Amino acid sequence: MRPEETKEKRETVAFVIPLYNEEEVFPMLFREIEAFRRAHPDVTEVVFIDDGSADGTAERVRALTEGRPGYVLLRFSRNFGHQLAITAGMNFVTADAAVILDGDLQDPLTVVEEMIARWREGYDVVYGVRREREGDDFLKRTTARLFYRFFQRITDIDAPLDAGDFRLVSRAVLDAYRQMEEQQPYVRGLIAWLGFNQIGVEYVRPARAAGTSKYPIRKAMQLALDGIASFSSRPLRYAVRIGVGVAMLSVVGLIWVLLAKYVFHNTIPGWTSIIFVAFFFGGLQLFFLGVVGSYLARVYDEVKARPRYVIRERWTSKAPGPGREREADSTVVRIRER
Ligand code: UDP
Ligand code: MG
Repeated sequence: MRPEETKEKRETVAFVIPLYNEEEVFPMLFREIEAFRRAHPDVTEVVFIDDGSADGTAERVRALTEGRPGYVLLRFSRNFGHQLAITAGMNFVTADAAVILDGDLQDPLTVVEEMIARWREGYDVVYGVRREREGDDFLKRTTARLFYRFFQRITDIDAPLDAGDFRLVSRAVLDAYRQMEEQQPYVRGLIAWLGFNQIGVEYVRPARAAGTSKYPIRKAMQLALDGIASFSSRPLRYAVRIGVGVAMLSVVGLIWVLLAKYVFHNTIPGWTSIIFVAFFFGGLQLFFLGVVGSYLARVYDEVKARPRYVIRERWTSKAPGPGREREADSTVVRIRER
């Protein structure tokens, strides 16, 4: 056998799949993964991250994957959030590439096939671009569209439009990603920031196969704000600019007030304008205090340097054969990797 052939054979792919209360959809997901793996034996590792589910997600994972090769379940000690679940999975896998996908089958495996093909052509990052979102309502579609465009304007990184976390990343990217230990990682932004050879594949995003969204509008907003705060300090600069603008305006106001008093002798108190000014500037000041505060809070989080997530259990599906029993049910509390 020629050496290139062996290399081609040895290049393996892992799946990284976060699960938060996904017991309903898991059996469908599992069936699709099994079918995919039968056609693609290069998928040697499937890592599920149970992000503190309160339902029977972990039990389902164990019951269905038990005895089959290559399944791993990392259980968080509580809900740490989607982005950290992905991060834990990416930091855990040992394969030559990892595909990050949602557990609700909104990231179709047919697209994964294409991603793997592009990666074999030499790309390091193959991200999915949502050409259409069948599954999402009008509000989610439009806010997401607006957000990706706003994000691109406000930051200096070249983040692709309409791409979520559904993507394949090569070993080189995984190793680089490992070094980024942000407390609140915005994964798609960090990967864009890393560079390498990136390419998108378009797909139509179907509706969730079962269960309900685990991303209420509040969480989605938080993700958007995290993304902006971690890649742009422009909101702080806007505060300065608006502050300067308002100060200049107040000089005009002062001139007007002085003229009214000493030239026109017309100083009947204007209640409306005073109230308006009080509300307007009160609001503006609080808003920018909040902006400054949110950056400060991020700094505070980084300084505390707590573990980003806690894995209370690592479970490995026992493939038939000796020597794997020890690994099952081992309890791992992983402190922030340094
Ligand atoms: N998820 C997670 N932790 C959370 C919220 C979501 O691990 O706190 C997972 C969820 O199980 C799913 C993926 O992240 O696999 C995407 O979530 P979801 O499909 O609910 O989001 P949507 O598609 O509605 O934006
Ligand atoms: Mg979904």
